[in-house]
Amino acid sequence: MINLPPSNSNGSCTLVGAGPGDPELITIKAMKAIQKASLILVDDLVNDAILDFATPAARIIYVGKRGGCKSTPQAFIHKLMLNAVQEGEHVVRLKGGDPFIFGRGGEEIKYLHQAGIKVEVINGITAGLAAPSALGLPLTHRAYAHGLVFITGHTPAETPINWQNLASTAHQARLTLVIYMGMRNAQKIQADLLVGLPAQTPVAIIQNASLPQQRHAITRLYQLCATIENQQLASPSIIVVGDVVHGMTALSSAESHNVATASAA
Ligand code: SAH
Repeated sequence: MINLPPSNSNGSCTLVGAGPGDPELITIKAMKAIQKASLILVDDLVNDAILDFATPAARIIYVGKRGGCKSTPQAFIHKLMLNAVQEGEHVVRLKGGDPFIFGRGGEEIKYLHQAGIKVEVINGITAGLAAPSALGLPLTHRAYAHGLVFITGHTPAETPINWQNLASTAHQARLTLVIYMGMRNAQKIQADLLVGLPAQTPVAIIQNASLPQQRHAITRLYQLCATIENQQLASPSIIVVGDVVHGMTALSSAESHNVATASAA
């Protein structure tokens, strides 16, 4: 049961995209919302430097998996947001990348709407855009792709992704695949995509995009897992699959050595 806020509540709630990591990639609107906030609920993968925009009086609560802890249950976060708004707080819910791209922003907004609370959403640059751009990789270069698919590599067992079908569609329609949260499942993703896409399809793996510790590797679909292992790439990473990876003139010489290259950051 959700209680409606008291009519005298001046509280507010804003879902704010913190971007991929580099604090300079946040929008001016996001920065202003953080400056106004009295309570900031921070997710994983948000660069702490962004919290420098907050006033010293703002309370900051980490609700991600930092410090190896289990992540805060979503229901708890919902209640925390609701109670704070009802108490008149200016709540900023700060999320990595964009709040509506694999960010559970939709669930939070729905919960608050049901309680009669309006929520403003401020976009952030999602990792699926920032990571390829960091390599100068144009996702829809018209010589190589007609479109793109943002897809998660991590789904509940009840709703698995049919990667084989996706591969065939991507091949026929010339779609670039931009895979979030794909590292743990890379073996299955590689095997299934190989059913519908050529083994030589170029792939980029970009870890910690836009941060000083950014690394990447360029490889081929049939070598995706071997490259992840050899280069010791890990989360958070974006995997880009498709001929657009070919379009990267800057990297074509690196690949001609047949070595997956890790950038020097
Ligand atoms: N809302 C976020 C995505 C959250 S899901 C956004 O819009 O970007 C978390 C996944 O995002 C990670 O597993 C990884 O696949 C990707 N990711 C987030 N930040 C990243 C970064 N700096 N570099 C590479 N991948 C990143």
